[in-house]
Order: sequence, then structure tokens, then C-alpha cells
Amino acid sequence: MRLRELVLDRFRNYAALHLTFDAPVTLFVGRNAQGKTNLLEAMHALAFAKSHRTARDRELVQWGREVATVKGRVERDGGRSVRLEVRLAPKGKTVKVNGVEKRRLSEYVGHLNAVLFAPEDLNLVKGAPQHRRRFLDMAIGQVSPAYLHDLSAYLKTVAQRNQLLKMARTAGRPLDELLSVYDEQLAALAAKLLRKRLEFVGKLEGWARTIHAAVTQGAETLSLRYVSTVAMDAADGAMQAMEERVHEELVRLRPHERERGVTLVGPHRDDLAFFVNGYSVQTFGSQGQQRTVALSLKLAEIEFIREAVGEAPILLLDDVLSELDAGRQLHLLSVIQDRVQTFVTTTGVEGVDHALVRHAARYRVEQGQ
Ligand code: ATP
Ligand code: MG
Repeated sequence: MRLRELVLDRFRNYAALHLTFDAPVTLFVGRNAQGKTNLLEAMHALAFAKSHRTARDRELVQWGREVATVKGRVERDGGRSVRLEVRLAPKGKTVKVNGVEKRRLSEYVGHLNAVLFAPEDLNLVKGAPQHRRRFLDMAIGQVSPAYLHDLSAYLKTVAQRNQLLKMARTAGRPLDELLSVYDEQLAALAAKLLRKRLEFVGKLEGWARTIHAAVTQGAETLSLRYVSTVAMDAADGAMQAMEERVHEELVRLRPHERERGVTLVGPHRDDLAFFVNGYSVQTFGSQGQQRTVALSLKLAEIEFIREAVGEAPILLLDDVLSELDAGRQLHLLSVIQDRVQTFVTTTGVEGVDHALVRHAARYRVEQGQ
């Protein structure tokens, strides 16, 4: 798929902007604080109806203004065009597909698939588990509306169950019957999420390993492990078995959970671990190794989307060229070729001598223009 048009109105430091894109690679070049990342953020918002760097939509609206909009036109393989719109207002956010408002996010996400790679993605490897859960949820969610739907139902149920656990603690009442109802709902939803996550991690590992081996010229073998709060063995792949395992754990931990007032088992507590040649990258990896693992994961995500959707996503690279050595830059650019429409921000392209960069469309970004 290709993003053909981007229209911003009062978004961050852009009062108004209308860009059209024809080239496979587009470079946004400019000094610091001019609005380069803001452009990728707008594309991210168009794809996911939210920013990649803040949960507060308000921050995206230009200072002193009330409403911001991001509009875009996506051309899917085969030529079909899809118009997308995200409008951020004090009363909330509205999203439209071809002019029709969508009430659920799961009906909006997926029309534009995007993979973003930015310096802060190092957190994917060395940051807190929530960064890795977010990666899993966004990657699966953008190809599976059902996953997004189940995830939001699951998180709501966890929040309600936590309230109940806290009530049980302060009121000194057991509330066992009500908790049992929640346990069943939670176990059913958790099993659905777990199944999709395990399937995703399995696929991702295959691609990430191949990419990682190529980037490190065969010196490193990458492996991934889904680390669950629910003990599972290979036989638990079946839905029913997984649901039962989650349920058993909830029952087993209930006294403990009641003491703490939080739900301790389930996908909202799980994590992902990375190993290079058998060693934990989180614990032992060098900065460069951690960065390479993060890059391999993102490039693998492109392949996952390509297989699931049948089309490649767009790729947003924020400031990463400067962070990678020449060999890794070349590998990254060769993966892109012209198979994936790519938007790259950089403060300068000196030292990047590659046909893709030489032939890219180039914009100079200065003070929101
Ligand atoms: P760097 O190279 O340092 O990463 P950049 O070009 O990527 O810089 P951006 O993060 O895109 O910079 O833009 C930052 C600019 O946008 C800053 O000047 C900031 O003050 C401005 N800015 C951020 N939010 C808003 C907003 N809501 N309204 C107006 N301007 C904003
Ligand atoms: Mg930036």
C-alpha cells in the first residue's frame, strides 16, 4: 500500500500542510525542532488514530487552537483508494473512512498499515515489559480487528476485577461469587489473546531470525520467547486448555490477589524475551546489539503484515540513519528496496551513499513548513 496524500490542519507546529507522495522513498531533512518527527507522528495518527509518543491527544493540537485534523489518501495494491480522517477536538476524537464516521477503533485501524522505527524503540529491548506488550498488541491489532476488540474487552474486565478485589479487601467481604463470574470472562478473553500472541511470536521469530542473521552477517542467532504469567506447555496450544490454565491460576492466586488488590495473571502481565546466541539481550546485550534486535523485530513486523494483509505496510524511520553504522544502514535500505514505501527523517544525508537515498523525493522541513 502507498500513502499518496497527507493533509494537516493545526496539527502540532503545522498550521496547514498538503503533501502528495509519488516516490518510493521520501526524505524529510531539517535541523532539530523543525517538525520532522511531527510529520511521521501525523502518519502514525492516521494509521492508528493515536500518536506514537503521547497518549494525550490534546498535545497534538496546535497551541492556542481547539481542533486538529489529519487527513490522508491511501492507495491499496490493485489501485483502490481509501480516504482516512482523524479529527481531534476538546470533546474527543472522531475517525472517518471514506467520509463515514466509525464508532469503534477496531473498524478504523487497518486501512493504513504502518511500521515505525525510532530511536526510542531501544525500549523495546531494554525498557519495561509494557513496551513489549504494546509492540505485540499494536502489531497484531493492526491486522486483526478482532484482537483489538478482545483486548479492549479484556482490559476493561481486568480493571473491573481489580476494583472488586480492592472492595473485597476494604469491605472485608469475600465477594467470591462475583469474582468467579469475572474469572470466567477473563479466562475466556485471555485465552483468545494468548493464542494470537503465541502465533504472532512464532511467526515473527522466523522472520526476525533470518533478518538478524543477515544484518550481523551470520555472527548472531536471534531467538524469541513469550514469557507468560500463565504456565503453559506445548500441548496447551488448544483454546480450551489455555482457558482452563488461566482459570486455574486465577483461582490459585486469588488469596494473594485479594491482598494486593490487582489481577496478577494474564496477558496484561506477560512479557517477551530476546536471546542472541542463547544469551539474554536484555541482560547482556551491548547497545549496538540491542539496537540491532529492535531493528530486526521491526523489519520482521513488515513481513508479518505483508503475509497477513497481502500488502506491505508503509515504513516510518525517525532519525535512525544516524544511529546505525554504514553496514546496517545499507542492509536496512536493501530490505526496503522499492517494495516498501518509506518515509525517513534526518538532520542530514551526508555519508549515506545509497541509490535509494540518491533517488528519494526530498523535502526541507523548516518551522512547520
Ligand atoms: P529533532 O531533529 O530534534 O528530532 P524534529 O524536526 O523532529 O526535531 P519535531 O519533534 O517534529 O522536531 O517538532 C518539534 C517542534 O514542534 C518544536 O519546535 C515544538 O515546539 C513544536 N510543537 C510541538 N507540539 C506543538 C504544538 N502542539 N503546537 C505547536 N508547536 C508544537
Ligand atoms: Mg525528531
